[in-house]
Amino acid sequence: MNAFNPTVEFDAIRDGVARVCAGFPGSYWRDLDSRRAYPTDFVNALIREGWLGAMIPEAYGGSGLSLSAAAVVLEEIHRQGCNAAACHAQMYTMGTLLRHGSEDQKRQYLPGIADGSLRLQAFGVTEPSSGTDTLALKTFARREGDEYVINGQKIWTSRAEHSDLMILLARTTPREEAQTRTDGLSVFLIDLRGKIGNGIDIRPIRTMMNHATTEVFFDNLRIPATALIGDEGKGFRYILSGMNSERILIAAECIGDAKWFIDKASTYAKERVVFGAPIGRNQGVQFPLARAYAHMIAAEAIVYRAAALYDAGHNPGVEANTAKMLAADASWEAAEACVQTHGGFGFAEEYDVERKFREARLYQVAPISTNLILCYIAEQVLGLPKSYGAPA
Ligand SMILES: Cc1cc2nc3c(=O)[nH]c(=O)nc-3n(C[C@H](O)[C@H](O)[C@H](O)COP(=O)(O)OP(=O)(O)OC[C@H]3O[C@@H](n4cnc5c(N)ncnc54)[C@H](O)[C@@H]3O)c2cc1C
Repeated sequence: MNAFNPTVEFDAIRDGVARVCAGFPGSYWRDLDSRRAYPTDFVNALIREGWLGAMIPEAYGGSGLSLSAAAVVLEEIHRQGCNAAACHAQMYTMGTLLRHGSEDQKRQYLPGIADGSLRLQAFGVTEPSSGTDTLALKTFARREGDEYVINGQKIWTSRAEHSDLMILLARTTPREEAQTRTDGLSVFLIDLRGKIGNGIDIRPIRTMMNHATTEVFFDNLRIPATALIGDEGKGFRYILSGMNSERILIAAECIGDAKWFIDKASTYAKERVVFGAPIGRNQGVQFPLARAYAHMIAAEAIVYRAAALYDAGHNPGVEANTAKMLAADASWEAAEACVQTHGGFGFAEEYDVERKFREARLYQVAPISTNLILCYIAEQVLGLPKSYGAPA
């Protein structure tokens, strides 16, 4: 698909990623999907080729690539019909560690993450009772000497069973005692090894698509105080800057999905003959695909604009949120058009369309739902009164 591509300088990355993906066709993903199994071979292949260490600086064994380059990696994985959800956290958590982690933390963990001997795939923010209202989270880390003792529960902590490390957001000051509304939360880099059944319990949640997501329970988990990232109590702002990179990277995946759906549907529409002619001759079939394409390239432009701003050292909240919303909408529109173009075959597993359709639906909700992005734009850009939470 020849979309306008603001990242032509990354063609070599696209080619390299596409070569890895070629070894993992639809049959591989269908099999995993039916068993709800983790794509270990695929993740290992990406690690072997160095793609998951893309954002780790060269000094720590990575490739030192930009967020824009990482976005291209993830977009291409999805463009090829694969799914990066099994391993994308390694990239989007990197901003938090690189921007706010200590030199000791970087030296201790980054080389292992870069060479694949350590997996940083788990990101624990959401809790069952707080949902999108992150400031209401209750998991508490209490300082005791050289340790923190953690109690609480996270939900939707994806890939926790397949990760050695977890970035955790927990409260360190009771909400009512915090100096400002956003103070009192802290970020930790937790080494999960040896802790499962010993302070941490992980329970898988079966979902409509194959996503390896879990509930995580903390019961007097003891971690060294050196696991704290940055300053105690300032974690919310670290996580927010990390969330911008997460939104940009997920948006890039959505662009890849949209391209896959549009290609798949266009190919089918040229081949499928009904009433003596290819169905793609009918404008009723063409127009939804053309419209989806138009929306996709518009979203693609804002995704890479947000990435460029992030790479320039900014914290582009409006652009990252807008990119995530428009890209998720574009992929969902393309998914819908693709199913419709395939008629009954859109529902048959062997075409991969129904699987990708289920996967694309997630991004209307996670990592942030469309409503909350609209709330953010209304409040931050338009200056409208905040519709949720306690008054600022
Ligand atoms: C498969 C999967 C994987 C995930 N992986 C992770 C992960 O790895 N780590 C992690 O921390 N989290 C993860 N999440 C959590 C995800 O980020 C949340 O599900 C998402 O942010 C929405 O939160 P919630 O489910 O609690 O919905 P809620 O906050 O309960 O919201 C429910 C609905 O109400 C709407 N709503 C809520 N408040 C408002 C408002 N003020 N105005 C308008 N509408 C509103 C929302 O838009 C949403 O549609 C994952 C979720 C899923 C489903």
